[in-house]
Order: sequence, then C-alpha cells, then structure tokens
Amino acid sequence: MPDGGHHFPALVLNADFRPLSYFPLSVWSWQDAVKAVFLDRVSVLSEYDREVHSPSLTIRLPSVIALKDYIATSRRPAFTRFNVFLRDAFACQYCRARAPAPDLTFDHVIPRSRGGRTTWENVVTACGACNLRKGSRLPKECRMFPLSTPCQPTTWALQENGRAFPPNYLHQSWRDYLYWDSELES
Ligand SMILES: [Zn+2]
Repeated sequence: MPDGGHHFPALVLNADFRPLSYFPLSVWSWQDAVKAVFLDRVSVLSEYDREVHSPSLTIRLPSVIALKDYIATSRRPAFTRFNVFLRDAFACQYCRARAPAPDLTFDHVIPRSRGGRTTWENVVTACGACNLRKGSRLPKECRMFPLSTPCQPTTWALQENGRAFPPNYLHQSWRDYLYWDSELES
C-alpha cells in the first residue's frame, strides 16, 4: 500500500480528455481511481510506478484517468464569492491589483444603499483601498468604473481563468493534459 507521505492522486479527465475541472483541479484519491478502473468507468492513460497488491492481483496506480462517459458541465456557474473572484481573475476591478482571496473584497457597483442588488451584474472584486475609496457612491459620482462590465460568466470562462492558477501538486504525467498549449508556445 502507498505510504502516508504520498497520496498518488489521479488527474481525472472528461471523456473529451480535458480535465473535468481546472479549478479546483479534478483529482481523485488513488482508492477512488482504482475503484473506477475496476468498475470499468474510466480508461487509464498514465500510471505511477507504485503498485498496489490484493491477494489475487497487482496493479499500478493510475496517475491520469479519463471518464468513459462524457459528463456535461453545468453552463450556469454558482453565484459564490469564490466564483466572483475567479471571474475577475483575483484582480481589483478598479486598480487591477492582484491579491489572494483573503485580501480581496466585494464592491457593489451600484451600492446597496442606492438600491443595488447582490448579483453577477452588480458585484465586482475590489481591493480594500478601492472599496473604501468608492464607499457608497455611484461610479459616475466618484469616477470609478469597473475594468469590465460585470456579468454572469459561463462555466467555460471560469474554467479558463482557473487554468491560470495551478494547484500545489502537479505530477509530471499530468502536464500533457493541462498545459498542452502553453508547452507548445514555450
Ligand atoms: Zn483596487
């Protein structure tokens, strides 16, 4: 059995060989991956050197698997704090400053006190300084306009933004499935 220090996660691709999700990256534990192999739900595209043994057989742990049945991703992403940050690429929509999520805030373009609602179309990512500066004024009152008009993103758009933020762990065998285009450009 694999030791505790290494978890041997498997990158999970959809049936079209794109990651099921970029952000968070779709990854299964080796236990779930092996189970899916036995249930014949996935194809194994790449393996670790590490093997697991059962009384009757030995298999190498999969490092990249692809679903045999295509899963359609939802076209309307959830309206969550995180997805707003992801839509705006973690950048303040007023000064372009980039920051990790804990340092970012939300700004109602039309302030709530002026009737603005909490929707995709009225909420943007803002740094603390810009949020404070704008206060409860309308954009035209303070000459602060969002870099791009906020709107509901497609799931595809969020996935594309998510590609810019790689996870902490990337096995070498995953790269072909994640960075095909960037590899070609470099
Ligand atoms: Zn700012």
